[in-house]
Amino acid sequence: MLIVMQAHATEEQVRAVCEKIESLGYTPHPVPGAGRTAVCITGNKGEVEPGTLDEMPGVQEVIRVTKPYKLVSRDIKQENTVITFPGTDATFGGPGLAILAGPCAIESRQQAFAVAERVCRAGAQFFRGGAYKPRTSPYTFQGLGEDGLRIMAEVRDKFGMKIVTEAIDNESLELVEEYADVVQIGARNMQNFSLLKQAGRTRKPVLLKRGMSATLEEFLMAAEYVMSEGNYRVILCERGVRTFADHTRNTLDLSIIPAVQRLSHLPIVVDPSHGTGKRNKVTPLSRAAIAVGADGLIVEVHHEPDKALSDGMQSLYPDQFDELMAQVRQIAPVVGRTVPAIGTRTALAAVQAKPSDARTSAVS
Ligand code: PEP
Ligand code: MN
Repeated sequence: MLIVMQAHATEEQVRAVCEKIESLGYTPHPVPGAGRTAVCITGNKGEVEPGTLDEMPGVQEVIRVTKPYKLVSRDIKQENTVITFPGTDATFGGPGLAILAGPCAIESRQQAFAVAERVCRAGAQFFRGGAYKPRTSPYTFQGLGEDGLRIMAEVRDKFGMKIVTEAIDNESLELVEEYADVVQIGARNMQNFSLLKQAGRTRKPVLLKRGMSATLEEFLMAAEYVMSEGNYRVILCERGVRTFADHTRNTLDLSIIPAVQRLSHLPIVVDPSHGTGKRNKVTPLSRAAIAVGADGLIVEVHHEPDKALSDGMQSLYPDQFDELMAQVRQIAPVVGRTVPAIGTRTALAAVQAKPSDARTSAVS
């Protein structure tokens, strides 16, 4: 059920509607729009009786929402959701593309800094890297845990990039929430409903990856789980699905981008690394992702991919990431998007500050 308020409805009238919804035992979600506010109702098992709400001051109309997802839907909010990070130009869903790059896993301080320096210089505003890795085999590298998170925090301090890292269970989520700027929920956890609900109670934006066999509706319902708990800052991520194709690790389903954008106001980015599993396919699919209208890219980069402890085969060399960014910069304006020149001002200073430069600037 959606309560559409009149354009001139006062804050008190919106508040009164929310209180009424609560008194009926449901949860109100006020959704401010360009011209008017709407209030979405969740928590109802059956139909809500519109009668009392319909008559309240400031209410324009009461609409039944027939789709299973509500808060995620454009029926509730027509304008795109734009997620911002105060103090930076980084956004998800705005005209600027979000560029997330870094290694699959944080392996050491030296590795993280080597990769961070290069992706930051190339223009990434977000540094990705797993401290908790959901691996197919229990015998492979599982991540550095909190030590990995501490290294990421150091990367943020030095380069000014925002940190994106995965929580694999409710326990790791508590720590990840403390350190990260964006909490990643991986493909294997897309339907871990208790994790989704906990992510919905965090104060950090959530990057939700599509499950490897998830339909569009299942994907949107997973986002609905997070939003139903009150966290409206959700970023969707297409990362490829399982098909019979064996020339790639997964089949990157770029057609889901316009499909999602039609149904939902949430931003959606593309992961061409897990989406293809092959280094030589990452740049072509990145170009395609931007052309199709994605809000950004999440790309695995490693300074020594042959020695990587996970996903080396799909990790770009830093020079290849530079080239990818050059190509993305050319394609973006064609589809009305911009690409930040370089991540952040701190980043610029960090990558430019060599001892010789410091001396020169001290003199001048
Ligand atoms: C990752 O981004 O490191 C990852 C494990 O991705 P996915 O959940 O899409 O497999
Ligand atoms: Mn990976």
